[in-house]
Parts: sequence; structure tokens; C-alpha cells
Amino acid sequence: MARLLLIEDDLAIRTPLIRALRERGHAVAAASTAMAGLRDALEDRPDLVVLDLGLPDLDGRELLRMLRAVSSVPVIVATARDDETEIVRVLDAGADDYVVKPFTAAQLDARARAVLRRSPGGGTPEPALVVGGLRVDPRSRQVTLDGAPVELTPREFDLLHHLAAHPGQVVTKRELLTEVWQIPYGGADKTVDVHLSWLRRKLGESAQDPRYLHTVRGVGVRLEAPRAAG
Ligand code: CA
Repeated sequence: MARLLLIEDDLAIRTPLIRALRERGHAVAAASTAMAGLRDALEDRPDLVVLDLGLPDLDGRELLRMLRAVSSVPVIVATARDDETEIVRVLDAGADDYVVKPFTAAQLDARARAVLRRSPGGGTPEPALVVGGLRVDPRSRQVTLDGAPVELTPREFDLLHHLAAHPGQVVTKRELLTEVWQIPYGGADKTVDVHLSWLRRKLGESAQDPRYLHTVRGVGVRLEAPRAAG
């Protein structure tokens, strides 16, 4: 279920679309002008905006630019033109995806779900993982160690998140390659080693003196909370 805002002036499109999207489990609000849509987008903070480009009071592209200046809400544009120039323009103006009229509620629903999966905080909320003083939050993609933020690259984050999801277990390099890198195993395990060493450095530890990341020689790596001193 997502909270959708549909900005569309054409009742013949809007009414059946609202009904069909509600039947698919979404909470749907609608606005029939650009200015009402902008206000609703800012006040009601929907999960996703579906924006018709042909609105009576303002060009939809202009509204998209105004919205983008103040909000990162995902936007799917509904356009009557399916030429490449138009589509490139709306994507460049900050749309996350587009549908070409006439489109079905099923298509819009599928695209909405895909956009929401990609957006931070979208889709099913995943809880933050906590291992000792390490906190890995998949929604904000932020990591803290003993309360202090740790800056990671996207790949380092995915690697740490996968390990933190299996605390105390040995995770093999093969599994990391398929799950984190999504490439088949075969000679690329140096990549894993290199990323693990970067991750260790950012967590302020080393392979020789591990706290969280323990190498299990010839098998893989295990993430666990350091034992309390003494
Ligand atoms: Ca229209």
C-alpha cells in the first residue's frame, strides 16, 4: 500500500484510475490543477505523485521543476506523447518514470511499485540492524559506530548490510559475490578482499586486530559484536 497523489484534470481518466488504484490497495488523493497538486504534494507528503503533463493552469513540466526544487517525492509523469525527446525532457526535469496515455491502472501500479522500491524509505520498511555498537540502517543507508557516523560507498554499505543481517555467521566470499555484487563466483574474490579491507579501515580495525569483522581463513568472513573487555 502506498499513498499516491494523482494530479490530473481529466475526469474521464481520473475517476476510473482512482477506483482501480484503490482496488489495488493504494490510498489515492487527487488534484485537478497544478497549483492544487503542488500544495497537496507539500502538505500531505504522499509516497508518490502521478503527474499529468497537460494541466489547465500550468504546464506539467513546469510543475515538476517547482516540485523538484522543494521535494524529493518520487514522480511518475503521464504523457500523451511517446517520442523520445519528450521522454528525455521529463526524465531530465526530475521524473522517476513515465507512462504514455492511454495506460492501464495495472501498468501504472507496476511502475509505481518499482519506483517506490528504488526510492529511499520506499516499499516495505526494513528495520535497522544493530550489532554491538554498529547500527546499519537500510532506509537511510546510514551507518553509525558507537553513535558516530561512518561514511561508506554504496558497495561498502551493501557489503556491511549483508554481513550485519547474518551476525555471528560465517559468510562465504561466494555468497558475497552473488548476493552483494550479483556476479557469479570465479576468480573475482580479490574484489571482496579489497572491499573488506576498506570497510575495516572505515570501522577503525584491521585484519590483524579485528573487532567486528573476523576473517575465517579459506572460508569467508564473520561479523560479530566485540566481546566486552575484562
Ligand atoms: Ca490533462
